[in-house]
Amino acid sequence: MDLLEKLGVLADAAKYDVSCSSSGGTRNNKNGVGNSHAAGICHTWSDDGRCVSLLKILLSNECIYDCVYCVNRASNDVPRASFTADEVIELTMNFYRRNYIEGLFLSSAVLKNPSHTMELMLEIVRRLRNEQGFFGYIHIKAIPGADERLIHEAGLYVDRMSVNIELPSDKGLEVLAPQKPVKALLKPMQQISRGIVESKENRKSFHYGNSTSNVSNKTFSSSGRLPGGEFSGSVSSGAELSKRDFSRRDKNQLFVPAGQSTQLIVGATPDRDLSILKLSEALYNKFSLKRVYYSAFVPTITDPRLPTIMKPPLLREHRLYQADWLLRFYGFEADELLSKANPDFDVELDPKANWALKNLHMFPMEVNTVDYEMLLRVPGIGVKSAQRIIAARRVGKLNFENLKKIGVVLKRAGHFLTCQGKTYESYSQNEYIVKEALVSAKLLPQSKKAVPGQMSLFSTINESGLGENMSDLYLFSSPENTKQWLSYYNQPQDGRLLLSDIHI
Ligand code: SF4
Repeated sequence: MDLLEKLGVLADAAKYDVSCSSSGGTRNNKNGVGNSHAAGICHTWSDDGRCVSLLKILLSNECIYDCVYCVNRASNDVPRASFTADEVIELTMNFYRRNYIEGLFLSSAVLKNPSHTMELMLEIVRRLRNEQGFFGYIHIKAIPGADERLIHEAGLYVDRMSVNIELPSDKGLEVLAPQKPVKALLKPMQQISRGIVESKENRKSFHYGNSTSNVSNKTFSSSGRLPGGEFSGSVSSGAELSKRDFSRRDKNQLFVPAGQSTQLIVGATPDRDLSILKLSEALYNKFSLKRVYYSAFVPTITDPRLPTIMKPPLLREHRLYQADWLLRFYGFEADELLSKANPDFDVELDPKANWALKNLHMFPMEVNTVDYEMLLRVPGIGVKSAQRIIAARRVGKLNFENLKKIGVVLKRAGHFLTCQGKTYESYSQNEYIVKEALVSAKLLPQSKKAVPGQMSLFSTINESGLGENMSDLYLFSSPENTKQWLSYYNQPQDGRLLLSDIHI
């Protein structure tokens, strides 16, 4: 297989991994200049908000494991290929020089064994930095089960690392990915998280001329030299670094400076949104993850252990992203957004509007006196509008006209606020009326509108607006497996499914 064919196979095999914020399009040249190919190049966003292109490939899709949901599983009949380290380096450098890409996203199936795969990935990133002088962005996967020294050394060359948990519960992993025990997935996450903290602490103590930290990268040197030493021309052991060494150029010396991320597949198991969100919350809190990515399950394989779904649950994935945003930037907790009684998001309403609707007794709030944290909880008010309101309040009392100018979406916020004691024109305390108003404010298609009361026997899924709900689409083709899943999932959903609450 020549390099281009390999690129086709291994770029295509990488497309289901969304943990680098991928997107891509295909556009064929019609007497113009250039082509756009979906495979191979994806986009991600840098810290300063720039959109950058990455070469997104697998090192290999010759997997020894047989995860049921995965297109690359050992028993699946697909074209197989593996790059050599030279080939990945050549592709990266040539694409970079031609300005196609600004960085590399390198993942891999498990080739031979986890440590062998990780070693190959380490060789690639080490040579890219040391031999090629490549300073572009690099994001690689840590392979669960690989020797931790390899993971650590790789972390000194890359910007971001991720370990994909994929399935959001212990049971899901047990049934669909039996060769990937939870512990093996969480161990590298814990290691990376610890490494990031230690690296930052080291940097701080060096910055103040105090090298008292007892964390030494020497511990992890598998090659007899200091990892990262060749890359920057200065060793990464703290005592020998001066302030000068922490110029922008040396940022790459830090351990995984852009943080770690993970991916959860939504809809391959009967896990409810509550379980998924609680897991994300735990990951943010325990491992300080930069991002959790959600990927709607794409049914590429038929297997009795997998659900028969009509289409990937994209709206459900979207709701989880919205809720994830609320966890990270709006001070919400998973238990506030969902409960055992309501374990899945409403497909018609975004999670914040849904929360407000369930807590109508807390509204309306007087915009001129309510505190910042509560302002953030009002649908139609984002972080910027809330900050502007607080600033504007210092000058004088606000009315609805002022709020409009500030950027508040009154079609939504008007149901939850008073201005100097006055309510907005459409104000109501009736939950059904408010919901209808919020749904139409979002301009959902007619088929997605709320259906008050119970669904009729003859309503179609589209009419009910429930078609995207996991519970409506989760059908198994094997009675044994249905029984097996149900016996487990009928147990109380009290958070025990959350990857054992991330106990390691
Ligand atoms: S280890 Fe990864 S690549 Fe291999 S089958 Fe499982 S999910 Fe797919």
